[in-house]
Amino acid sequence: MLTNENKNEINSCLVCDSVRHRNLQVFDQYKLLICNQCGFIWVSPQPSLDEYLLHHQNSFKGYYKQSIEDFYLGDKPIFHQEIKVKTKRLSFVQSLCKSNDNLRLLDIGTGQGLFPVLAKQLGWETYATELNEEEVNFLNKSKGIKCYSGDY
Ligand SMILES: [Zn+2]
Repeated sequence: MLTNENKNEINSCLVCDSVRHRNLQVFDQYKLLICNQCGFIWVSPQPSLDEYLLHHQNSFKGYYKQSIEDFYLGDKPIFHQEIKVKTKRLSFVQSLCKSNDNLRLLDIGTGQGLFPVLAKQLGWETYATELNEEEVNFLNKSKGIKCYSGDY
């Protein structure tokens, strides 16, 4: 269990280093903080890798009942809804790009990889990270996504 005295407490923005931030949400011993200067959002204190893996495993328990192969082959409503959501997000990201040439995407914590898969279909060069080894292997072998696993 982490406490407020934990050395993993992060009180300045990881992007712009500002110390001006506010709480968005508090859950258990963790705070979700947002930078007043740039809008970056982070968790403080940072969980250890073991705590994160435990949380990840518990949080996505129901979600991962479905194998990743079924996610792409199945005709489940969640799949169609996720396509709509991810396509809308991808359009937003693309609107921020200065050019439509040489588009590259890194999806950190990609899960089942739908976001980079959709981007790849639109011609983006895609990369991803994911903790779940089964998904990393599937995305590399079956979807051509350069997906990496590990503790960064
Ligand atoms: Zn910031």
